[in-house]
Amino acid sequence: MQSETKNLIKATLFCSLCFVIVSFLAFRTHLSKFPDIFLYNIVIIISMHELGYYRSLFFLCASIFLTILTALTSGFSYVWNVPIFFSTFLIVDNEIKKHNYHSHIVKARIEEIKENTNVLKDEHNKHKKESLSLEKKEIRYSALKDAVSVLNSTLILDDVVKNIMDNAFNIVGKSDSGLLFLVDTKRQELHLSLSRNMINPERIKTKKGDTLDEWAFKQRQALLVEDIKRDFRFSEDGFASEYERNFRSVVSCPLMEDNKVIGILRLENLKPFSYTTEDLRLLDIICDIGAVSLQNSMFYKETMELAIRDGLTGLFLRRYFLDRLKEELSRSLRNNAGCSLLMIDIDNFKNYNDEYGHIAGDMVLKAISRTLLNFTDSGIACRYGGEEFAILLPEASKKDALRTADNVRKAMKKEDIELRRVKTHVTVSIGVASFPEDAKVSDELIMKADDRLYKAKRAGKDKVIAE
Ligand code: GH3
Ligand code: MG
Ligand code: MG
Repeated sequence: MQSETKNLIKATLFCSLCFVIVSFLAFRTHLSKFPDIFLYNIVIIISMHELGYYRSLFFLCASIFLTILTALTSGFSYVWNVPIFFSTFLIVDNEIKKHNYHSHIVKARIEEIKENTNVLKDEHNKHKKESLSLEKKEIRYSALKDAVSVLNSTLILDDVVKNIMDNAFNIVGKSDSGLLFLVDTKRQELHLSLSRNMINPERIKTKKGDTLDEWAFKQRQALLVEDIKRDFRFSEDGFASEYERNFRSVVSCPLMEDNKVIGILRLENLKPFSYTTEDLRLLDIICDIGAVSLQNSMFYKETMELAIRDGLTGLFLRRYFLDRLKEELSRSLRNNAGCSLLMIDIDNFKNYNDEYGHIAGDMVLKAISRTLLNFTDSGIACRYGGEEFAILLPEASKKDALRTADNVRKAMKKEDIELRRVKTHVTVSIGVASFPEDAKVSDELIMKADDRLYKAKRAGKDKVIAE
């Protein structure tokens, strides 16, 4: 404040000096003009206060210069021209200032409006994104709701597995391939139940899963691999072959029931960073729903198996066998293919029962059933009656059936059966009948095979008769 006053005094003295010098040099005015100087200084001091010193000095110099210039060019020498010019400058400056001030305000307003518009735009975009993601979520969750009803609509295991995969593909989306493994509870290992590849359907997959599936199986945890090439948990050596590494990102979830893993569902994408934690969460939900249906269908399958299998030998029961025989015969008729039936009866079985007891007799039946199963890779074995068995050989000609029957007979004869620490052997008699040469319908085929079985008995047992 003090330096400001000093400056003001300095400037006033300087201006007064200027006025005296100018008026003396240019207009030959004398110091008698002091009252004028006083008035003149008041104007300048006020203006200096308003304008600032340097600006006032500049206007003062410009006014003096213009006064001198006017005096020299037009001869109009009037010392009050200086304050007149000075005041004019002041007014013009003030107007310019006012104008600048207004335009500044307008600019500031425009900036403010622009800023507000940007904020609104950002908010709008944010809301748009939020509503899009909500919409997406709503679609996904309504798809989940549908998934529940679809998954509960069937008890057939293959259909359930397919439904789980379909739902995972539809709901999580963005997948190039998918695998569903079921757990073999006896061996505690994975078995591929269904694979889907959108890009290369022929791609062969490991049937027992790779390190990723093993991880999800052992850890009982959902797994998200954003980029398999950068995930320290899984080295490339863990993958048996190149095709197995033909993906970059993976989501995998165990299907759990009663705290046990019953399956693993896995989705893959060829590009890295394709899946998010939200995708993993959805897959987890699908697996939770799927696991219930899977467990139900497994129970159903087990119950059905129990219903169609013999409790002692594990072979199919006669009723189921007859249905399958009818199916196979109509298939053979359609495809113009052969189909054969073997009727097998144990020779002198009553003797085993009489000699070793009924329980020992049961052991013989079990041993024989195990041997029969070795010959039914492509066929169906059944316990047709007490100690009578039947094997259906689809697509087998009479020649094939005869060969198989003889192999069965030889295998039975060779097998050691231990009853009460005594090694014994059983023999069987077999009757063979084939479609279409022997019969066209199931009853007739059974009758023919039965007739030939008793022909074999009459011929001395341990024989195969096909004619
Ligand atoms: P063949 O060579 O003529 O067939 O003589 P076989 O002694 O086998 O005579 P048959 O076929 O008539 O005898 C059937 C015997 O099988 C009668 C029954 O005691 C026995 N059997 C039938 N079902 C069972 C079973 O579930 N367990 C046991 N231990 N024996 C059975
Ligand atoms: Mg018998
Ligand atoms: Mg019999």
